[in-house]
Amino acid sequence: MAFLPFYVPKNKQLKIVIAGGGYAGISAMTSLLRYMPEADITIIDPRSQHVKITHLHETFRFPLEDVLVPFSALERRFGCRHICAELIPQEIALQQWQNDKFITLEDQILEFDYLLIASGAAATQVERTENVLVLQDFMASSGANLLTSHLSTDTVDEQSISVIGGGATGIQFLFEIAHFLHRRKINSRLRLIDSGERVLKQFPVGFSRYTEARMSDQGIDFHPDTLYRGQEGGKILLEEKESGRQFALPSALSFLFLGKKPDNLLAANAFGQVLVDHEPLQNIFAAGDCSSYHSYGSNTMSAQSAVRKGKLAARNILRHSGMLKLLEPYLHHDLGYVVSLGPTDAVGWLALEGNVVSGIPALVIKEVVEAQYDLLLTGIDTYLI
Ligand SMILES: Cc1cc2nc3c(=O)[nH]c(=O)nc-3n(C[C@H](O)[C@H](O)[C@H](O)COP(=O)(O)OP(=O)(O)OC[C@H]3O[C@@H](n4cnc5c(N)ncnc54)[C@H](O)[C@@H]3O)c2cc1C
Repeated sequence: MAFLPFYVPKNKQLKIVIAGGGYAGISAMTSLLRYMPEADITIIDPRSQHVKITHLHETFRFPLEDVLVPFSALERRFGCRHICAELIPQEIALQQWQNDKFITLEDQILEFDYLLIASGAAATQVERTENVLVLQDFMASSGANLLTSHLSTDTVDEQSISVIGGGATGIQFLFEIAHFLHRRKINSRLRLIDSGERVLKQFPVGFSRYTEARMSDQGIDFHPDTLYRGQEGGKILLEEKESGRQFALPSALSFLFLGKKPDNLLAANAFGQVLVDHEPLQNIFAAGDCSSYHSYGSNTMSAQSAVRKGKLAARNILRHSGMLKLLEPYLHHDLGYVVSLGPTDAVGWLALEGNVVSGIPALVIKEVVEAQYDLLLTGIDTYLI
């Protein structure tokens, strides 16, 4: 059993319920088991598999199964229990759960010593039509299958494909789609639509310059300052942001990556305990994209922050259950971020936001970070910070 500073155990076996088995939830579970191997852990998640979302765009090259880890496999590996259900953490329910120390799920009562909410952030809702695909679709079918099943294969005419959203997710999908179309020799025109004046606007301008240059090299059209207004049959409806002029372009298939909803986040104190009416709930913690910590640490919606918050919440749950009750504040700052631009290129920053890296060095950093998380899923924790 590993040593955890400021933790003098009082219990050998805590009952811990984790709502959400994503990056934050799984990192929390592995940390809990590291310091308390006999912890009784239940994961509530409506999916039957843990999704390694940071690899989802790669399913244009690899089978979807490569990025899915069945919760049944995690149950066997870690001795936890998975319940396939949703937990809706509304304020009134949170207070009730804190008082009762149990939650009711359909027909069963789940008692807990600590509850960790790690249910991720909700995607922006959009009106769906037949030839519009969103991130959720990639959790049910691989990118390669989705693209080939939606494009007509009996035509030699050029087919237009639109990607809407030039954030990190949209860009990673855009380049994988471009690579796939090229590899399969599909006669098509690819375009990116974004409401901002440059792609990857949440990152330094060096990211945008590099990415837009690679888009131009690959013949991808870019429509900046343009708003998506819908899809009607084989046409995409757009609006110029400045002038309000509406227009339509042919689009056999449109991919929407409009980002996550920053609302409905759970406020938490610097130790990860959920705040209701500005007061911390002692036994309910939050981590990952669903949480906003009131601390100096990073609240970015990234796997990196989700893992760090999950691990911190786990350590603080144990310390809170112990004799000393000395908790550790969340101070993690992102160490870098890499956006892949297809299988052989990437752009990112390392250590300092202005320190932009691209090409093979950026790709190597991404591989190392992904490998570190893959190791965690096997029970080997190599995270130093
Ligand atoms: C294509 C793509 C690439 C990305 N690449 C990177 C990257 O390179 N680096 C990086 O740092 N970040 C990246 N991200 C962002 C990163 O994936 C997220 O920030 C991270 O997954 C957040 O982890 P999380 O645990 O908070 O949420 P998630 O990983 O989304 O997990 C949430 C879990 O909660 C479950 N859940 C949802 N609602 C409920 C409920 N009501 N009750 C119970 N369970 C529920 C879900 O089924 C899911 O299993 C990428 C995202 C995408 C989409």
